[in-house]
Amino acid sequence: MIITFKINAPINEVKELKRKIENFNIKVIDASSEDLGVFGLIGNIHNIDIDQVACYNWIINIIRITENQYMTSKSKNNEKSVVKIKDVEVGGNNTIIIAGPCSIENENQYITTCQAVKDCGGHILRGGIYKPRTSPYVFQGLGKDALPIIKKTKSTLNMPIVSEITSISQIQELENVVDAFQVGARNMQNFELLKALGKTNKPIILKRGFANTIEEWLMSAEYIMVNGNSNIILCERGIRTFETMTRNTLDLSVITIIKQKTHLPIIIDPSHATGHWELVESISLAAIACGVDGLMIEVHNKPECALSDGGESLNINNFHNLMIKAKKLSDFMNKPII
Ligand code: PEP
Ligand code: MN
Repeated sequence: MIITFKINAPINEVKELKRKIENFNIKVIDASSEDLGVFGLIGNIHNIDIDQVACYNWIINIIRITENQYMTSKSKNNEKSVVKIKDVEVGGNNTIIIAGPCSIENENQYITTCQAVKDCGGHILRGGIYKPRTSPYVFQGLGKDALPIIKKTKSTLNMPIVSEITSISQIQELENVVDAFQVGARNMQNFELLKALGKTNKPIILKRGFANTIEEWLMSAEYIMVNGNSNIILCERGIRTFETMTRNTLDLSVITIIKQKTHLPIIIDPSHATGHWELVESISLAAIACGVDGLMIEVHNKPECALSDGGESLNINNFHNLMIKAKKLSDFMNKPII
């Protein structure tokens, strides 16, 4: 990092800045000339709280010349992390399908849908227990009443299950029931929750917030990792833009960007990304063509009766058809769905 500053800056403040930077364990090389103050900073730059540095009105520019090395950053030897949800490896040589309804509504709905997901070749089940709904007047999820349904489904189908956790207080209750915690878009920056999840050893599917940059998303992953849990799968579910024809806007380039910058697996949620079931198939196939590690798809045995997100949920027949195409394409991409 290089900091340039006005040459007539108050000497005592310049010294104070140098001291502050050195306190972050960074070496400061003074390369100032007659016209311009220049500090070259050497060391672990991400230790610096940039707000503490940028607060002087005589600073001209702060220029990063190397990318920060974080726990989520790709290592020099390009190693990728494989995250295991029970026996299913996410981030390895196969494309993984996570599917199931938005919410667990009742036993018949859940088991029927999940059985179909299994029959079509899905690997992991999804299903909301606690639902973060925009309106407090609509279905909020079954909460505790969903737990026996999950237990029965797991013992019947013998498949791993992922569900969203919305509060630290749910960790104990869900830890023995679900195989991975999902952190939803709305909680991506709930730092206390992220810290607490970092202290568990459950895999975490960390969704990107709908108004967050990739950098902020990765810093949230960093919160989990720095607290001890490196089993993180990133999930892109679209961001909010000016567009109103889709529920969110999905930027597929995120798949390659995440693979370039990090060692973490990346999956796409085409259901929330689009908000319309008719768009789910093409977006899923596009994500596979981009080399995604997996998809998380909402499927419902009767989408027209769903208590949440029916409009973006595939019915069983459409999910079946999607899986046939997805399998062919993933074979071509050399990342088969098996
Ligand atoms: C969900 O997966 O049902 C959900 C609420 O997702 P998101 O956090 O991406 O909106
Ligand atoms: Mn949903």
